[in-house]
Amino acid sequence: MPQSSPTGTIAKFLTLVVAIVILSTISVRIWGGKPETLPAPKQLTITAGMTLQEFGQANALPNPALKEIFGLQQKTDLQKKLAEYGSDSQIKALVVKKLALVAEHETKNWQKIIIKFAAWFSVLAGIFVLFRKQSVSPAKRTFALLFSALVFGVVLGSDPSPMGTVKDAIHLFATSGAIFPPRLIALTVFLLLVFLANKYICSWGCQIGVLQDLIFRLNQNDRYKAVVGRQLKLPFVFSNAVRIGFLVLFTIAAFAWGTDIIEPFDPFKLYKPMHMGIVGMVFVGGLLVLSLFVYRPWCHLFCPFGLVGWFVEKISLAKVSVDYDTCIACGKCETACPSTVMGAILRRDKKTIPDCFSCYVCRDVCPTKSISYSTRKRTLPPAGHFDKK
Ligand code: SF4
Ligand code: SF4
Repeated sequence: MPQSSPTGTIAKFLTLVVAIVILSTISVRIWGGKPETLPAPKQLTITAGMTLQEFGQANALPNPALKEIFGLQQKTDLQKKLAEYGSDSQIKALVVKKLALVAEHETKNWQKIIIKFAAWFSVLAGIFVLFRKQSVSPAKRTFALLFSALVFGVVLGSDPSPMGTVKDAIHLFATSGAIFPPRLIALTVFLLLVFLANKYICSWGCQIGVLQDLIFRLNQNDRYKAVVGRQLKLPFVFSNAVRIGFLVLFTIAAFAWGTDIIEPFDPFKLYKPMHMGIVGMVFVGGLLVLSLFVYRPWCHLFCPFGLVGWFVEKISLAKVSVDYDTCIACGKCETACPSTVMGAILRRDKKTIPDCFSCYVCRDVCPTKSISYSTRKRTLPPAGHFDKK
């Protein structure tokens, strides 16, 4: 990356954000079509002795919807008594659940989803192969992050996202008791990717993750030092406590009040700016500015997938590890790592290892090539290893 002045860094940051907003607005218009949400079912009318057909007429539910909800086989089934399908409350729960699933289906752009998953697989595989052996210069990293932000965010939009698979699954289940199978499949695929290669999907594929990463790197020179102000490493005990507390709060709000507390300030909406309210604009603007100084603040402090993925990271196959036979304990990797994770991996003096975003910086600054991103098992440093520093 060419050396940047503070003014140049701020100019690049502003240009990037404005360009993303403008290009995303155009992209959403080009894709067009699907509504964001469908109206929730209103209060249902149920009267004693009514048939399914009468129930449909009273609640503006067309016959195909009745067929879907009650599993009707033939037209004469419409004359069946509603009471055969359970008590009033059971029928209401059934209708809410089935209509929620229909709404999920109707609001998805399936063509775009298939393209996005195909793009995720090919881009992540390409980056994995490309970066596995060769050193990743700041310029190459910036290019890869920008490419992913453009492809997975601007072109392919805010949905789906790794975060959405956790957030929307909890909210849907809390409000309707429904589980949307395609979302479960997507979540399984994302977690499988974490199992295979640490947080590779977050590192190089998540549209908001890569954007925060890119902004953080914009504020660094070639020696990974901040150009504007100082870059801080949040203590993991703090950031993870906030992240756990936030997920608990989100879950309680979803089950107790049917509210999605992330919705008003969901940062993924940056890629569909016309759906952002004032609260969202202020929050996302603040988050992006914060990203200049703190590495991936949304991922570390709020993201539900960030938290779930962090648990799965514990059993990831490919990950960062240190060869203590050649490590000279210079600590360069720990200093250059954008968060506290490399310190924890290197020293193993803490029980918990924070999130690693597979950025390859630690590996590339190591003067003795003692760090690998591979399936090698992590070992403990020999006793007194760091005394030689
Ligand atoms: S942790 Fe960050 S990168 Fe991963 S899904 Fe959440 S926002 Fe995206
Ligand atoms: S510098 Fe190394 S340990 Fe730190 S986030 Fe990047 S890959 Fe993970």
